[in-house]
Amino acid sequence: MDFTFMPTPSVELNTVSSRDLLMLRLSIVVGGILISLFMIGDLQLVPPELSGAYITNRALIQLPILAGLLAFTFVPQFLRFAQTAFLATVLSLTYANYYLIHVAWEQASFSFPYEGTLLYAFFGFFVFGMKFYYALTAMLISSVGFVGLMLLDSVYGDRTWMNAGFVVGSLFVGVIGRHRIDRLLGQLEGANEQLVGLSTVDGLTELFNRRALMSESERLFALKRRANHRLAVFMMDLDHFKQFNDRYGHQEGDRAIRIQADIMRQVLKRQTDILGRYGGEEFMAVIEGDHADRFERLATEILRQWQERAVPNEDSPNSKILSCSIGICQGLASEFDSIDDMIRKADEALYCAKKQGRARYVMG
Ligand code: GH3
Ligand code: MG
Ligand code: MG
Repeated sequence: MDFTFMPTPSVELNTVSSRDLLMLRLSIVVGGILISLFMIGDLQLVPPELSGAYITNRALIQLPILAGLLAFTFVPQFLRFAQTAFLATVLSLTYANYYLIHVAWEQASFSFPYEGTLLYAFFGFFVFGMKFYYALTAMLISSVGFVGLMLLDSVYGDRTWMNAGFVVGSLFVGVIGRHRIDRLLGQLEGANEQLVGLSTVDGLTELFNRRALMSESERLFALKRRANHRLAVFMMDLDHFKQFNDRYGHQEGDRAIRIQADIMRQVLKRQTDILGRYGGEEFMAVIEGDHADRFERLATEILRQWQERAVPNEDSPNSKILSCSIGICQGLASEFDSIDDMIRKADEALYCAKKQGRARYVMG
């Protein structure tokens, strides 16, 4: 069954709304502001001979990297490559920082802080929403780079290897956190799908329930009205079903209701056809078609299938086999005020079919 009418959830799930994209862009801008604010503080801290290298690193490498990511979010293919783009952004920011740590040590024996490594990674993991395998890759490449840097320069003296352990350990904790979030999101998505199923599908027939039937029909009607296409509403009701229930029991009654649903699925099998249980033993279908003939053919086929199955209904006052009656309202969508208007007319046609003797269709 098609559930595309459901609202879409957040960035980290597989679908993204325009609001999620806006939030992502905002967070990239916030990242840029954070880097700029750090610049003010850092410039008080670094020796004057490093100011040039520092400003170049921040203003000409890191901020442009973020600007590049921001620009990329406007490219239509962004969603396909978002995770790769996040990974590339986090790693290039991190390595730009390593380069600064290296230059500060070589040029001024200054121990430039390493905490940025964690900030970039955690920003990627939890603000961008990098998925587990991307976070793991970022962690491994960042850790290898940091350990390599410490082997090259003992930037933090006695504390060098303790700091390296702290960086690798913290990144690892971040990746574990990411893994748990991904697992929870997966469970949430599964539960959500189940709930959508339960709230839109009729348990007995697996057709749309009344609520989904109405919202889907309204949607199709609005669509067809804009294009001014032809469509039909079929209202169907089993004939002398009270007698059937009384004679064969409620369980057999339920089985007959499922047969009607099976027949509908067999006859009305276009992807766009909307099939639902309107209530009790009443069913509705909304169908597209270029000619009224098509609707008559379909209705005839539904009636024929009941004949073919020959389900006994001994206590029925007329035919001794179970049947259904069909009321049809069809026309160009623009000829009707609303889908409710069509349903009402189909209902009137159904009433006529019942009055004329049942086991037939009437086209209103
Ligand atoms: P008509 O030909 O005029 O439609 O006569 P009818 O006896 O079918 O009358 P109606 O359409 O009013 O029948 C409704 C009956 O359908 C009443 C109820 O016992 C039965 N029914 C409604 N929902 C269910 C259901 O979910 N399961 C079963 N087994 N029976 C149902
Ligand atoms: Mg009935
Ligand atoms: Mg009825």
